[in-house]
Amino acid sequence: ILGQLRKGEMPETLTGIPKNNIQYTPKKDKTVFFKPYTAGVGLKKLKKLSPDQLIELVKKSKLSGRGGAFFPTGMKWEFCKNNSSDQKFIICNADEGEPGTFKDRVLMNKYPGLMIEGMAMAAYAVGANFGYVYLRAEYYYLKDKIEKEIKNFRSKGLLGKNILGIAGFDFDIVVHLGAGAYVCGEETALISSIEGKRGEPSTKEYFPVERGLFGKPTIINNVETLCAVPRILSMSLAKYLKIGTEATKGTKLISVSGDCKKPGIYEIEWGMKLKQFLKLIKAKNPYMILFNGYAGECLSSADFDREISGENLLAEHVQFKWDDPIEYARKMSAIGLRSGGSFMVFNDQRDLMPIFENITNFFVSESCGICAPCRTGNFLLSKKLKKIMLCHAEKSDLEDLEKWSSIIKQSSRCGLGKTSTNYLLSAMLKFPQEFNKCLLARSDFNKSFEFEKVT
Ligand code: NAD
Repeated sequence: ILGQLRKGEMPETLTGIPKNNIQYTPKKDKTVFFKPYTAGVGLKKLKKLSPDQLIELVKKSKLSGRGGAFFPTGMKWEFCKNNSSDQKFIICNADEGEPGTFKDRVLMNKYPGLMIEGMAMAAYAVGANFGYVYLRAEYYYLKDKIEKEIKNFRSKGLLGKNILGIAGFDFDIVVHLGAGAYVCGEETALISSIEGKRGEPSTKEYFPVERGLFGKPTIINNVETLCAVPRILSMSLAKYLKIGTEATKGTKLISVSGDCKKPGIYEIEWGMKLKQFLKLIKAKNPYMILFNGYAGECLSSADFDREISGENLLAEHVQFKWDDPIEYARKMSAIGLRSGGSFMVFNDQRDLMPIFENITNFFVSESCGICAPCRTGNFLLSKKLKKIMLCHAEKSDLEDLEKWSSIIKQSSRCGLGKTSTNYLLSAMLKFPQEFNKCLLARSDFNKSFEFEKVT
């Protein structure tokens, strides 16, 4: 397959995504938010900005991690800048492994220079002089393209020594290929992988901004996050702040797949209603939306009136406070939906149980196996789901499903295990009928089970 992909352009035919294109979908009017990108435009603005001013600008933009976790980007950069270490690194997390997410792939294929600019800006802000693009193994065919663009930047003096003639602004980038493990998108596993160790997550004694790659302060940002910075600079902060909602400014790339007539990548303004979005992608009789990939949550028609924003769908129970971003990030990770922007549509003709089993099987095979809750828990969940699907289950099996999902969420060692049962916990609440119909199919059993909300 890799051989074929190198020759051809994109693997769209393999994934069923028709266009390698971003469709701009403004909420209010017909304006396209960001003009087509020209290499170096945003970067050149650095001549007029000090690193502190750049960090201040990113903080004011309220840009937050587009990989899914929503940690405030400016705050992350500030922590790293304040560290007095003599060496710092920038890593662009291009290990886009979440099923149903392909926005970074399209960004890198269409605008590789935008990502490089974003990395150079992060380096300027924090005082780093070396960067890695951690590229997903399955995106091997993009390696040449990115490396060509890096060379192009070097030849224009936009990478290398004294970039843009700014004394001491030295920065260069290499592309580091992953080896196909989903867990390597988790930042501690990603760091181990670049260091040449086994790509396994470790407990976060320190955040990477304190001690990251080779023990040095490291910024790890997603491709979309890094691409947003030069765009904000080239369009001006004032214009950018007019887009989106109070808590989530700007736009979000959404990867759409599943039962709809127009799958692909959409750039939407934060605040768009789910209903409106479903209309845009021409989804007929949508029954369930899996939002944020397999690590995400299931949404039902009861959610279709909600808006895609920090205030509503992503973190409705969290009081958004930008003056205390760490507290916000903590609350978001505990309650909020968060989103890397994957949007899978399932229509009312789908049987959901095999889909649920498929998702859990994915986590069984991708678990690194170190911690018991994730390793054994997901394996047991898979068996249990099979039992329910075959209508061999009893009420106590559904009770187990609920309890075990909650235990795995609370006690797993890293983000993979912690998010592996999000979909199931939400599916049990929003689609209890799907589980109960398997129970009711038993002739000796005719009572349904009521799921409780587990926090
Ligand atoms: P996290 O909330 O632990 O951390 C988010 C980022 O903020 C990290 O870079 C972390 O180092 C930083 N951070 C958090 N608190 C900090 C602090 N106090 N000081 C300094 N830095 C701090 O989340 P995570 O485990 O890194 O990521 C989980 C997210 O990734 C989930 O939302 C999940 O859905 C998403 N995900 C995305 C993909 C994809 O392909 N895009 C794949 C799998 C998972």
